[in-house]
Amino acid sequence: MTRVVANPRHGDLRNLLSVADLGPDVASGINRVLTLTDSFVEVSERAIPKVPALKGRTVVSLFFEDSTRTRLSFETAAKRLSADTMNFSVGTSSVKKGESLRDTIETIEAMGVDAIVVRHASAGVPLQIAQWANSAVINAGDGWHEHPTQALLDCYTIRQNLGDLAGRQIAIVGDIRHSRVARSNVAAFSALGAEVTLVAPPTLLPPSLEGWPVKVSHDLDSVLANTDVCYLLRMQRERMTEALIPSLREYTATYGLTERRADLLPGHALVMHPGPMNRGVEIAANVADRPNAVVIDQVRNGVAVRMAVLFLLLGSGIEWGGEIDA
Ligand code: ASP
Repeated sequence: MTRVVANPRHGDLRNLLSVADLGPDVASGINRVLTLTDSFVEVSERAIPKVPALKGRTVVSLFFEDSTRTRLSFETAAKRLSADTMNFSVGTSSVKKGESLRDTIETIEAMGVDAIVVRHASAGVPLQIAQWANSAVINAGDGWHEHPTQALLDCYTIRQNLGDLAGRQIAIVGDIRHSRVARSNVAAFSALGAEVTLVAPPTLLPPSLEGWPVKVSHDLDSVLANTDVCYLLRMQRERMTEALIPSLREYTATYGLTERRADLLPGHALVMHPGPMNRGVEIAANVADRPNAVVIDQVRNGVAVRMAVLFLLLGSGIEWGGEIDA
């Protein structure tokens, strides 16, 4: 059976800059993406994991900051949907010659693109681009601000392993202060009814947590026994302008998920990390390889989640033989 989707470009989701863009009812917006992701997981498992859903559309990746997972994941997602992809490397572009962001965007748009996937070291750049561009803009991480597709793939991975997030206890551990992943995940996890505890030294928490629907702890050992998901963050040394911890060794001793600490988790609990992992710092090497560490599932699900996001933003309404009803 084929369900044809009206072009959602004319619908509610125009850009994806933050988790809040998923709709006035964020939980329904997330659930809509997760349901659509189920179909794209099925597509990804086929012998030929490709559908013509976005044939004729062009997606450009505009990454001003390094990335392994997110960039490859968006490109794979676009290709599996049969979109054309363009890759903009700042290092080899005219940005190096001083071309402004606005001129760069106008140049890219003049070539006829439908979506711009952007990562930038400064918060707010994707929003600025969305104000200039006619294409759909997807935030692939902006400074300390947000990384909405990471939150979606994390919700999907938790739901896949543990079922509904409602009532689940999720500990987010580490450098919350500099983490866009933490900001998007707190918004998404709490919208789905999970209870989030931030575990970090005071120096690695945001200066104000007003309005954050979270509990805070400085004692990882005491949190672990009542945790369904232990979500570890990397020490974002590239964003630290001052010494916020005495040393990495001291950090590992107090906040690292060592083997001893991982044993305090309930048997069903998941260990998650957005990558890149610093084995031996926030997570012991052996803990990262345990069966309950689902870091590779997160990466795998990232492709299907980004297929769902691209499809929601650019879906052409072309019949392609799938059973997608967004
Ligand atoms: N890959 C994630 C990000 O881009 C997390 C990290 O870099 O630590 O924010």
